[in-house]
Amino acid sequence: MSVSQSSFLPAPVLCIVLPCYNEEAIITGTLQKLTKLLNVMVENGKISRESFLVLVDDGSRDKTWITIEEARTNSNNVRGLKLSKNYGHQNAIMAGMFNYKDESDCIITIDADLQDDETAMEQMIDKYRQGNEIIYGVRKARNTDSFFKKYTAIGFYLLIKKLGVDIIHNHADYRLASKRVIEELEKYKEVNLFLRGIFPLLGYKHDMVYYDRKERTAGETKFPFTKMLAFAIQGITSFSVKPLRIITVIGLFVFIASILLSGYVIYSWFFLNAVLGWASIALPTYFIGGVQLLSIGIIGEYLGKIYQEVKQRPRYNIDKKI
Ligand code: UDP
Ligand code: MG
Repeated sequence: MSVSQSSFLPAPVLCIVLPCYNEEAIITGTLQKLTKLLNVMVENGKISRESFLVLVDDGSRDKTWITIEEARTNSNNVRGLKLSKNYGHQNAIMAGMFNYKDESDCIITIDADLQDDETAMEQMIDKYRQGNEIIYGVRKARNTDSFFKKYTAIGFYLLIKKLGVDIIHNHADYRLASKRVIEELEKYKEVNLFLRGIFPLLGYKHDMVYYDRKERTAGETKFPFTKMLAFAIQGITSFSVKPLRIITVIGLFVFIASILLSGYVIYSWFFLNAVLGWASIALPTYFIGGVQLLSIGIIGEYLGKIYQEVKQRPRYNIDKKI
C-alpha cells in the first residue's frame, strides 16, 4: 500500500513510551530494534523524522538509568524520564504519556521487553492516519503464557466483564493514543487509574491490531502472582461497585436462611423435645462469620480507595528528565 492510498493524515511525530523497572538486561536490545523500526517507518514516510523513544525508569535498582543515560548520549531520538521511586507500571506509562504528549502527535506505549510484537506499530500508525484516535494492540493467543498465567487471565477477563467493566479482551497496555486522547485522559484525576478500563470509557474513534505475544528474552517478569492479584483487584474495584451489591444479595439470603432456621429451632423446642446438636449452632456461626468478614473486607477495599482518592496525591514524582 502506498502512503497516499492508505493515509489521510500527514506523517505524525510518534513517541514510543517504554516503562522500565530493573531492565538493564533488555534495554540495549530493545533500543536497537525500535530504532531500526523507527528508521524504516521514517523512510516509508509513515512517521515524521522527529519521532522519538522515551524510556521511563520506574525507580529501578539496577543499572537501568545509567543505560538510559548512555543511550541518550548516543542517540538524539532517545529520551529518558526518571521517576523518584518505583510507582508501578501504570504510573510509569502515564508519566511518559503526560510528559511527552506536547512534543508528539501520538504515543504508543509498549513494555520494554518487547514481548508484544513491535512490528504491529506500523499497522497502528496506518490506522491512526486513517483517523482513529485509539488503537488497541490485541494478543491473538496465549500460547507463550504459562498454564497458570493463561487461566488466571481468562478468569480475570470473564469476571471483570461479568462485573460490568467494559474492557477489551486480551488487550494489555500496548496501544496507540492520539495527543487529544491523552489530554482527555489527563483530566481523569483519580489516583487509582486502571488504564485498560479508562481508555474504552474515553470514546473516540478506535480500532485494533492483532499480534502474537513472544516470550521474554532476558530478565524476569516484574509481575509475580501477588502483584497480578493486586492489579486485578485494583481493576475491578476502580470500575465496578457490583461486589458491594453482591454483598447485599448474599446478606439477604443469609437473613432469609436464618429466619427459616429460627422457625426450625422454635419448632423443635416445642415439639421435638430434643436437645439440639451443636451442628445447628456451630454451622451458622461459622457461615455467617465468614460472610461478614468477607463483606467487611470488600467494603474495606472500597473504603481504602476513597481514602486514597480524597488525599489527591500526585501519581508520581519525577527525578530527572533527559
Ligand atoms: N514495570 C514497571 N514498573 C513496575 C513493574 C514493571 O515499569 O513496577 C515494567 C517492566 O519493566 C516492563 C513492563 O512494565 O517493561 C511489564 O513488566 P513485565 O514484562 O515484567 O510483565 P509481564 O510481561 O511478565 O506481565
Ligand atoms: Mg513482559
